[in-house]
Amino acid sequence: TRRTLIAGNWKMNMRAESAAALAKGIVDAVGNTPPVDVAVCPPSVYLAPVADVVAGSSVGLGAQNLYPESDGAFTGEVNAAMLTDIGCRYCILGHSERRQLMGETDKDVSTKLHAALAGNLIPIVCVGETLEQRESGTTEDVIAKQIEGSLAGLDEARAAGIVIAYEPVWAIGTGKTASKEQAEEVHVFIRGLLTKQFGGEVAEQIRIQYGGSVKPGNAAELLAQPNIDGALVGGASLKVDDFVAIINAS
Ligand code: 13P
Repeated sequence: TRRTLIAGNWKMNMRAESAAALAKGIVDAVGNTPPVDVAVCPPSVYLAPVADVVAGSSVGLGAQNLYPESDGAFTGEVNAAMLTDIGCRYCILGHSERRQLMGETDKDVSTKLHAALAGNLIPIVCVGETLEQRESGTTEDVIAKQIEGSLAGLDEARAAGIVIAYEPVWAIGTGKTASKEQAEEVHVFIRGLLTKQFGGEVAEQIRIQYGGSVKPGNAAELLAQPNIDGALVGGASLKVDDFVAIINAS
């Protein structure tokens, strides 16, 4: 059985004070033995202060990106060793905003995936189709290409520990959520791809989160689907009450 993972992607939001307060609110609400895994992913400049707040709690820390090189002349970048050094356990990779705005390719994502694993981070690899792709009937082709490219060169032994996030681009920040049926259908498709690549035993262990306008009001029905193993939450992860309600819905 896969343990549900509820992660908050704070994106480029918060300030030092509000970030610490949000993390503290979540730590206090979640308690010591939550029935699900919980993580917060603040902007990189706030990782260290949030690490202090979540230290010793059951709330994990994740980064939103990394640069796949060891220390050196890479101005402005942060690598996996630095992220684990300050207490990160997870790293989001290939979010659609990075794919669209920063031009990240599947090849970039696979390079980052290997760097994350080498640095003992749990990668959360994001995939998802645009509205245009869904409407033209190419969702499965798009997802297949993203999964294949992003997970290139990943060996079976390490595959079980990764997390996939299915985030339909048309549902991100739009208030439009995929229906539970639409989401489950793609999650089943993704698990089929993982089965082909890594075998059924490994594929059954890989957690597949849903992301895209997850809110307290729709979390329960999404998380009740057999192949939805958690949520990657944007907007609703910025308020303690909303995020905690989503955690409690699972
Ligand atoms: P929203 O929950 O704001 O739609 O964002 C989803 C997302 O992109 C999480 O990574």
